[in-house]
Amino acid sequence: MAGSSALRPKIGAHVRSGGGVQNAIDNALAMGAETIQIFSGAPYAWKRKKYTEAEVEAYKKRVEKTGVEPAFIHGLYLVNLASSDDALLARSLEALVGDMKAASLIGAKGVIFHLGSHMGAGYDAKLNQVVESVRKVVDNTPDDAWMILENAAGMGGAIGSKFSELGTIIRESGSDRVKVCIDVQHAFAAGHDVKTRPGLDKMLDEFERDVGLERLVAIHANDSKCPLGGGIDRHANIGEGHIGRDGFENLLSHPALAEAPFLLEVPGIDDHGPDKENVEILKTLRPGVAVKS
Ligand SMILES: [Zn+2]
Repeated sequence: MAGSSALRPKIGAHVRSGGGVQNAIDNALAMGAETIQIFSGAPYAWKRKKYTEAEVEAYKKRVEKTGVEPAFIHGLYLVNLASSDDALLARSLEALVGDMKAASLIGAKGVIFHLGSHMGAGYDAKLNQVVESVRKVVDNTPDDAWMILENAAGMGGAIGSKFSELGTIIRESGSDRVKVCIDVQHAFAAGHDVKTRPGLDKMLDEFERDVGLERLVAIHANDSKCPLGGGIDRHANIGEGHIGRDGFENLLSHPALAEAPFLLEVPGIDDHGPDKENVEILKTLRPGVAVKS
């Protein structure tokens, strides 16, 4: 009976989509991922990919056949909505709009991205610009794509290491289409002890107060090379970091997280990114696994 009725999160990963976005589904199947995140272009180049009609059709067919969903697009790493450089801000907006359109085309939920860094100018000084930027992207993109803000670890003036910052930006943006992805490594580095039930409860209470759990649409499932509160963004394979297997068992069994897809962004056993090994570890830690007879 185990596993038949328990609500439990889907387990997936960031996967490659080179050679056609439909390949993302086969790459997911190869590692046992049930849900995916992809880039719609190189993560460190401004050029965004325009999916062809044939590609989109092939992708949708693969999804229908395999059930690998939902999908998320990860924004490129160059985006900085808090930049004081007008040209960089303009390119950031353009890239996000492009990614949002790509998400809508393939039926992905939306774009998970890092808000960026104020580079010393201060959060307060850049808040209005960030809010305006989020509004602009929302206003210029299809209604079926979410803008999904990712929490930061707290390095170098990054915006969004505090849920209160994300909450303010979301409220001021005035849009239901602005959501949140919690990266548990970033949260742990920012001081949330997600490893223990009391620590996780405390974090989720804070999230509920400052953002609202209904906005939580995805989890980045990464172990942490950085200790609790260390403030540094460094992902580790599951079980090889400070969160550890017991920490992920705790995360995967929390009822408030049961409906959020868990997406791996780990270095991988061979340093080639998320892999079968990491997916399998998470699956064994998920509640309701059928008992072998
Ligand atoms: Zn992440």
